[in-house]
Amino acid sequence: MDIAVIGSNNVDLITYIDRMPTEGETLEAPSFQLGCGGKGSNQAVAAARLGSRVLMVTCVGDDIFADMTVENYRNNGIDTDHVKRAHGTSGVAPIFVDPHSRNSILIVKGANNDLTPEDVEACREQIAQCALIVCQLEIRLDTVYVAIALGEQVGVPVLLNPAPASPDFNFDWARRCTYLMPNESELTLLTGMPCDSDEGVEAAARTLVEHGCRHVIVTLGSRGAWWFTRANEGGLHVVSQRIDALRVDPVDTTGAGDAFIGAFAHRIVHGDAIPEALEYANSYAAMSVLKRGTQYSYATADEFDRWRA
Ligand code: ATP
Repeated sequence: MDIAVIGSNNVDLITYIDRMPTEGETLEAPSFQLGCGGKGSNQAVAAARLGSRVLMVTCVGDDIFADMTVENYRNNGIDTDHVKRAHGTSGVAPIFVDPHSRNSILIVKGANNDLTPEDVEACREQIAQCALIVCQLEIRLDTVYVAIALGEQVGVPVLLNPAPASPDFNFDWARRCTYLMPNESELTLLTGMPCDSDEGVEAAARTLVEHGCRHVIVTLGSRGAWWFTRANEGGLHVVSQRIDALRVDPVDTTGAGDAFIGAFAHRIVHGDAIPEALEYANSYAAMSVLKRGTQYSYATADEFDRWRA
């Protein structure tokens, strides 16, 4: 296996709306799409479609959404040996997308809350054989912490996407990851610093590196991404590299961040240096905003190569 994704699964219930109903109002919406999602699953599917061998460590419920999620993993060639089944509902995410492709998202975590630290320990051997562990914050934080600790113990680098932003997340664990990949709002929550300008993003990301984070990669939506790291081991000099987003006309940006992370992880485990992996991820995520839906918009390696050519 190349990548162990230890994270969430959801079924996305995506309603395309003209506008949100006001309280007590019933409105017709133009269309609806059911799709597999959840940050963990999205990142796993993006990496798998690009050709990585992915081990998924997650927990589904005992409903029709669970079957849909497991079948989706199989269709994408993702290893399901460590997909746990719990009693109760699976994770679901009602998503509303307006005509300007702005989205509002609710998350019902369901069985994602049943993925325990013991479940992660139970697949220690398989995880130890991977080249990268990828985690997010849509599962229990104690489970995330054990995943990070396990990565340290077995010498597998950890990529943490601290999303969704959680005030309960203990920053000490971010320092122990090789790659920390927040968007602007997650960066604000991690640092307590405003990130609504380039200056703000830069100051906050530098602070994280100064406090011990190795590689901080901030995704900036239509403004691209920004990588911060130390100039050399032991020194305190922080260096950064900015990458502009591709100029495209977005149709639906839902899941662009997960596309970016899955593609970045895929290239890193296949030997790219960080700048090359970022370039690739930036293009892959730009392609994903051209189609509606989350995983529906993730290209295979062949589709992506044809689009880039
Ligand atoms: P989400 O939670 O919807 O997945 P996010 O906030 O985690 O999004 P963003 O920072 O919005 O992630 O986007 C991730 C990456 O996707 C960006 O760094 C960029 O490479 C690409 N991207 C997003 N929006 C656009 C856009 N409008 N045009 C081109 N590229 C985009």
